[in-house]
Amino acid sequence: MKLVLVGAPAAGKGTQGSAMVKHFNLTRISTGDILREEVARGTELGNTVKDIVAVGGLVSDEIIMAIVEERLKEDDCAKGFILDGFPRTRVQAQLFEKMEDLDRVVYIHVPDEALLDRMTARQTCLRCGATYNRIHKPAKKKGFCDVCHHKLIQRSDDTVEAGLQRIVTFHAASEPLVAFYKEKGLLLQVDGTKPITEITEDIIKGLEG
Ligand code: AMP
Repeated sequence: MKLVLVGAPAAGKGTQGSAMVKHFNLTRISTGDILREEVARGTELGNTVKDIVAVGGLVSDEIIMAIVEERLKEDDCAKGFILDGFPRTRVQAQLFEKMEDLDRVVYIHVPDEALLDRMTARQTCLRCGATYNRIHKPAKKKGFCDVCHHKLIQRSDDTVEAGLQRIVTFHAASEPLVAFYKEKGLLLQVDGTKPITEITEDIIKGLEG
């Protein structure tokens, strides 16, 4: 199965993406994780995108398309994949259409007011990409990842200022993207304000039904 996960920052893409990976045996690809890793490693690409990622802007389509194209060539993508955070714009979706045939696009919808609260309480594992929320989904051992036991961080773009910018960017760039996939008949929209397990059930039912 070839899926795309769309949602505003902190809508629950990471959490639901991991659930999809388990249920459908997919490879999860997050362009945000790839970029953060490049920044952390101080690579040439990382240095190029560092300032854009820090303020919640969009990295150029050229860079993103090249990253995705390379990543999809890896063997673990043959069994199927779920893309998290890509495509993020209509242009990226149009370019991607020439690369892959998608089965469905899952859109997790959460109102803006709830997003900022979630974002500022979010903790992320830089090693495996797992996400936690200090209030709603705390790690079992405070400050450490349940999955790989690496230290958790607060992302530098999970602040009120950068968070607001990322929400604005989402509306401007990703709403046309959602409309694009709706027109194609690929969109599965779920209510992201429900409890985590219910959202997972809605997605699975929607994809299997
Ligand atoms: P995310 O983890 O998906 O919230 O991504 C973190 C940051 O990486 C975003 O705020 C952007 O700066 C950048 N980024 C990730 N994916 C994309 C994309 N598909 N297009 C442009 N920029 C991206």
